[in-house]
Amino acid sequence: MSYEHRFIDGSPCGLPLGKVVCVGRNYAAHAKELNNPVPSTPMLFIKPATAVVGLDSPIVIPQDRGACHHELEVSVLIGEVLTNSSSEAAKQAIVGYGLGLDLTLRDVQNRLKEKGHPWEAAKAFDGSCPLTAFVPVKQVAGPLNLDLQLERNGVLQQKGNTSEMITGIFDLVAFMSTQFTLLPGDVVMTGTPAGVGELKGGDRLVLVLDKYCEFTVFVG
Ligand code: ZN
Repeated sequence: MSYEHRFIDGSPCGLPLGKVVCVGRNYAAHAKELNNPVPSTPMLFIKPATAVVGLDSPIVIPQDRGACHHELEVSVLIGEVLTNSSSEAAKQAIVGYGLGLDLTLRDVQNRLKEKGHPWEAAKAFDGSCPLTAFVPVKQVAGPLNLDLQLERNGVLQQKGNTSEMITGIFDLVAFMSTQFTLLPGDVVMTGTPAGVGELKGGDRLVLVLDKYCEFTVFVG
């Protein structure tokens, strides 16, 4: 089934699938685990619409391209055009919150980083951005204080809270809009907490977004 933005009750969001704008190193503990310096301004990259798949089907990871890591992130669905926007305008443009995996071919990325080359081969491949359905914004009481966690085969791997972000959600979306116009249906990925690790075929993942939703997915 082809991907469509949906709310957690299954109803369509009525927005086209656009690009996904991501941020690297937005949680200090994750920057540290990969021995990366914390950037002074958000370090952005984009995944194309072809990267997006629904987390209601098994995750497909590329074969023979080295380790593929899970990076659990809070995803944000954008509902309005944002260009050079204020944090308040960014906040008003958010339609819903969900979870996504910024799948990363870590060996490929390490080689690209060594050469100073762009990251797309490691980050933007088909299926590299599995997304859950979105919790409607009205139901989310405190987006700047949301727990997120990922269990792999019954073991807690990643646990964070959006309050630990170096650049918080509204400021991040506003900053992104100074670099790239965000369109209705675009998705913002807000960075991963510590605990990233390699996925293997047959893994069972449980993703939890605070008290709002829990998703179970297998790696195909
Ligand atoms: Zn990431």
